Amino acid sequence: MSKDSVLVINCGSSSLKFAVINPQTEEESISGIAERLVGNEAFISWKINGEKHTQELGAAGHEGSIEALVGILRENNLMERIEAIGHRVVHGGEKFTKSTLITDEVIQGIEDCSHLAPLHNPAHLLGIRACIKNFPGLPQSVVFDTAYHQTMPAESFLYAVPYSLYQEHGLRRYGMHGTSYRYVSKTAADMLGLDYNNSAILVAHLGNGASACAIKNGQSVDTTMGLTPLEGLVMGTRCGDIDANVFSFLNKQCGYSLDEITQLLNKKSGMLGLSGLDNDCRVLEEAASKGHERAQLTLDIFCHVLAKKLAGFAAELGRIDALVFTGGIGENSSVIRKNVLNRLAIFGFDIDDTANMETFRGKSGVITKPGSTVAMVVATNEELMIARDTEALVKG
Ligand code: ADP
Repeated sequence: MSKDSVLVINCGSSSLKFAVINPQTEEESISGIAERLVGNEAFISWKINGEKHTQELGAAGHEGSIEALVGILRENNLMERIEAIGHRVVHGGEKFTKSTLITDEVIQGIEDCSHLAPLHNPAHLLGIRACIKNFPGLPQSVVFDTAYHQTMPAESFLYAVPYSLYQEHGLRRYGMHGTSYRYVSKTAADMLGLDYNNSAILVAHLGNGASACAIKNGQSVDTTMGLTPLEGLVMGTRCGDIDANVFSFLNKQCGYSLDEITQLLNKKSGMLGLSGLDNDCRVLEEAASKGHERAQLTLDIFCHVLAKKLAGFAAELGRIDALVFTGGIGENSSVIRKNVLNRLAIFGFDIDDTANMETFRGKSGVITKPGSTVAMVVATNEELMIARDTEALVKG
C-alpha cells in the first residue's frame, strides 16, 4: 500500500478530532473524535467504511487518545498509508504567515503565541508532542487559522488605541477561519472561472462561530474577527461588536466580575442571549416560522449586522465578483441567505429562490439569477486544506 494520505489532527482543550485524507482524491478513509479528555470518562468514536465505532478511554487525556488512535489506525491497516500529519493551530500571531513543517523553533513559536489563544494553543501543543512521540519519523506540519489574514493592511488590523499596546503586546486584530477562507474563495473562483489573482470575493463563514472576510486577488484584506473570535458578527453565543464600555457598565451597574462579563459576552450572548431560546439557528428559524417574535428579531439582527459588514467590505474591494456563503448556517440556511441578500440589493443581488432552496447540505452552487451579482454557496473543507498544505510542504 502506498503512502498517499495525511492524518489531520484538530486538538481542542477537551477533544481531539482526526481524519485521514488523501489530498489528491479527497477520499477520507477514517474520521472521528476523542472527547471528554479532561477527567476520567474519555472516549473515542470513529467512522470507517460508513460504520460507526466507539471505545472508552478512561483517563486517557490527549496523549492516551493519540495512543488509542495509533491502535485504531493499525487495526484498519491505515498506518502504512499515512505520509505525514497536519495539525490545525488556532493562533500564529504575527509570527506565522503560512503553513509550515514542525521544528523545535516552530513549537517554541506556537508557545510564544499562547497568550493570544490561552485555551487553544496549549491544547494544540499537547497533540503535537503526543504525535511526535507516537508517530516517530513522520513529518508533521501546522496550519494556522490566523495566517491567511496576515496580508491585511495596517488600516484593517490596528485598533485606535495607544500604538505602544500593539508594539509591546501585539494588541491588534488577527482574524480567524483563515483556512476556510482560503479553501472557499479559491474553490469559488475555480467554479466561476475567475482569475483568482485578479478577483474580488466576499465570504461569510457562518457557523456557531461566524465571521466575514474581504478577499482581493486571493488575499485577505479585511475580516470581522479581531484579537479574539468575539469581535464582529452576532454568533451563536458571542455578542460580536459591542461598545467596550459595556465592561465597566456591567461591573458598576450589575456587580459582575471581569470573568463573569467575559463569560456573559462569549457564552451567553449572541443568538442565545437575544432570543432567550437557543444558540442553534435551526431552532430559531423553526420558532420564527411559528410566530415567535424575538426569534425573528434575533435572525433579523444577525442578518442586519452581517449585511452591514459585507457592504463595508464591498466598498473596500471596489467591486464584487462573488459573495460566498459557507459554514453550517451559510451552507444550510436558505432563510438567512435570502434575508442577507435582500438587504444587499443595492449591490445588484437578485436571488434565484429555486436555486437557493435547493442548495444545501454540502452542495455548492450559485443562488442568484443570470445577470445578477453572483452569490453562491461553497461547502467548506478545512481538513482537506490542511491535508493539501501538509502534502505540499512534505513534497517541497
Ligand atoms: P462551528 O462554528 O461549530 O464549526 P458549524 O459550521 O458546524 O459550526 O455550524 C453549526 C451551526 O449551523 C449550528 O449551530 C446551526 O445553527 C447551523 N445549522 C446547521 N444546519 C442548519 C440548517 N438546516 N438551517 C439553519 N442553520 C443550520
